[in-house]
Parts: sequence; structure tokens; C-alpha cells
Amino acid sequence: MASQSFKITVIGAGVSGLTTALVLSQNPKYRITVVAKFMPGDYDAEYASPWAGANFWPMGAAGSTQAELEKSTWSELSKLAKEYPESGISFQKAFIHTRVEDVGRVGSLFCQSDKNLPWWSDLFHDFKSLDQSELTSGIHSTYEFTTVCINTAIYLPWLLSQCIKNGVIFKRAVVKHIADAASLHASQKPADLVVNCTGLMARNLGGVEDKTVVPARGQVVVVRNDPGIMATISNTSSKNDEMAYMMSRPGGGGTILGGCYQVGNWNAFPDPDLAESIKKGCLALYPELTQGKGVEELSVIRHGVGFRPLRPQGVRIETERVKGTLVVHNYGHGGWGYQSSYGSAAAVDLLVEREVKLNAKL
Ligand code: FAD
Repeated sequence: MASQSFKITVIGAGVSGLTTALVLSQNPKYRITVVAKFMPGDYDAEYASPWAGANFWPMGAAGSTQAELEKSTWSELSKLAKEYPESGISFQKAFIHTRVEDVGRVGSLFCQSDKNLPWWSDLFHDFKSLDQSELTSGIHSTYEFTTVCINTAIYLPWLLSQCIKNGVIFKRAVVKHIADAASLHASQKPADLVVNCTGLMARNLGGVEDKTVVPARGQVVVVRNDPGIMATISNTSSKNDEMAYMMSRPGGGGTILGGCYQVGNWNAFPDPDLAESIKKGCLALYPELTQGKGVEELSVIRHGVGFRPLRPQGVRIETERVKGTLVVHNYGHGGWGYQSSYGSAAAVDLLVEREVKLNAKL
């Protein structure tokens, strides 16, 4: 058996690395080691995954690779919410408001034109665009549908334990050069292939050094108040790249109030002025959050900052040979790493399978 196995080292234990390891581990012939600087339970701005809300709000433009990855991830996440609620994923009603002045000027989560519904409306059985008579002043359209919300503090450890169940071994390491990861395989023999799921830090990883990956800074306020829904509103007029949104993490995870999308901003500390503005923005969006009693009634659990690993030209999922080491990349998921996680992992799985065949390894 050992001679027939294919050894894989995955670098990274964010949602990309964990989901990829889990999907690959379904093939009993793969022996997988995950090495990472940060693991579930750690908090650092450069480790994006714990900071995400997280939910499934499709953002890829119609027909894009991102849209395809999101579409194929939806079936997996909704299955987890239905059949494995212990994963920390549950269904929640969402309201997406597009202001009159923002139509067609913001991403495809929001209204692009009067004529068409978004490509993703078909994914949700109860999607509806509210009737004109139901819209509040200044709002061009409101989409209402049921999607999933993920408590990342439950889901990341759940992914990790599912991997362990399938025989994946986890090790802490800071990898300097991507080719070095091959020698970190738990078998103590060089890995046949390395999967690169380093997110933002693909910028600094030797042999990759992809400086096109930049932080899209997100700041959040986590509160005890429970709106019972998810909501967001378009905002093209913000000076601070702010956009109000809220979602309640299942399993008592509190409500995430956001946020911002500050490209190139490396400030890892919460900005108190921005935190106040986030609170006000969320209450303007949904005053019921404090039963109309104002900002003072928000009960804050913590403030946080995470860097979304933004690669403006899109995610990098491809094969490369670096210093003789076979590498499959899977990084640069920006603000949509959860909602594209299974689609991306399946794409990696196909590339790995192709290499296994090409190298006649199994
Ligand atoms: P990361 O989570 O950053 O993980 C990278 C891993 O690689 C870590 O384990 C790190 O330690 C390791 N690593 C890096 N370099 C090295 C090295 N040299 N050696 C060893 N290990 C290394 N996405 C959604 O889908 N839905 C949402 O609602 C959502 N909301 C968000 C809200 C906020 C505020 C933020 C910040 C992000 C949000 N995102 C959301 C985006 C999502 O969090 C990211 O796309 C996703 O977490 C990226 O995951 P990743 O595994 O690629 O990277």
C-alpha cells in the first residue's frame, strides 16, 4: 500500500487548505500532510479565515470562473447546513439592498440592471426581488432569499477534525521556499506534490512571491445582539471603503457587524473611529438590531481585523514546477474564500489527478 501511495503536502490551514486537504483525503491512495504557520484557534490579521462572517453571497460576475467556483460550492455548503449542523453552518434569511445611485456600479451581489435578475438567483429556491411597494426610500431593489451562515470558530476546527478522521497529518511550520514543503511530509520522504494554499502570504513565499496578492482589509465588530437575519446595502459613496453588513453566526457565535474593504491597507489593529461608523451603519441598515434603541444598546464581544487575500486578476489554481517540485496553487480568494472553497478544492483535485496519471504514480 505504502509503495502505491501518492504523497502530498498542503501548505496552509485556512479554509482553502483545509477544504482542499479534506477533498483530496477522500482518495485513500493520497497520503496528506498539512503544514501551516497558523491553524484553527489562532487569530492574526494575515490569517484571513477566522475573521470571515462568513456566509454565501455570490460575488462573481456572470460567466466568470469565480461564479463557477461559487456555484459548485453552494451545493456542498447547503448540504452541510441540512445534514451536518454540527459543522457550524446553518440557513439564514438574507436581504441585499441596492441604493438607487448604485445600480450597475457595484459587484454582482447587487442589482446590475432593471431588466435582469442576478445569475445566482436560480440557486435559491425562495429568491425574490421585493415589490416596489415594499421598498424603503432611496432603495432601488431588495433581494430576499435563504442562504447559509458559517460560524468559522466551529467550522474550521470541524474541517480539521474531518481531515484527521481521513488520516491527514497536521504540522506547524513556517515554510520559507515552496520547494522546502516537500521535505516536510510526515512520511519523512519527499512529497510527490505540494499544494499551495497560503492566501495573502503567497506574496512572501519563496519560489512564488506573487506580489499581485494584496490585503483587502476587513474590520468587524462582534456583538451579542441578534438581528435574526443577514443584511447588507450597496455603498459607492463611502470615503473609507465601508459597506454595512451583518450576520449572526450559528451556535451562539454572536453577530458580525461589518465592515470595510480597504485594498492595500496593512493596519492590523481595529480603528476605533471606523468601529463606531460600522455600528452606526449597521443600525441605519437594520434598527431592529437594538429594537430601535440606538448604538448604546449594542453589546460588544470583540473588535477584529482580517486581510482578505485579494488577487485582482482572480484566484490562481494551476500547476507549476518549482525547482523540480511539482506544485498546484490554490490562493487569492479575496472576500469569497468560503463560498468558493469546494469548487476550488475540486479544481485542485482534478489537477492532482492529472499529475498522478502523467507521472504514472499509482
Ligand atoms: P488564509 O485563511 O489566510 O490561510 C492561509 C494559511 O496559509 C494559514 O494557515 C497561514 O498560516 C498559512 N501560510 C501562509 N504562508 C505560510 C508559510 N510561508 N508557511 C506556512 N504556512 C503559511 N469569504 C466568504 O466566502 N464569505 C464571507 O462572508 C467572507 N467574509 C469575510 C469577512 C472578512 C472581515 C474577511 C477578512 C474575509 C472574509 N471572507 C469571506 C474571505 C475569506 O475569509 C478568505 O477568502 C479566506 O479565508 C481565504 O482563505 P485561505 O485559506 O486562502 O487563506
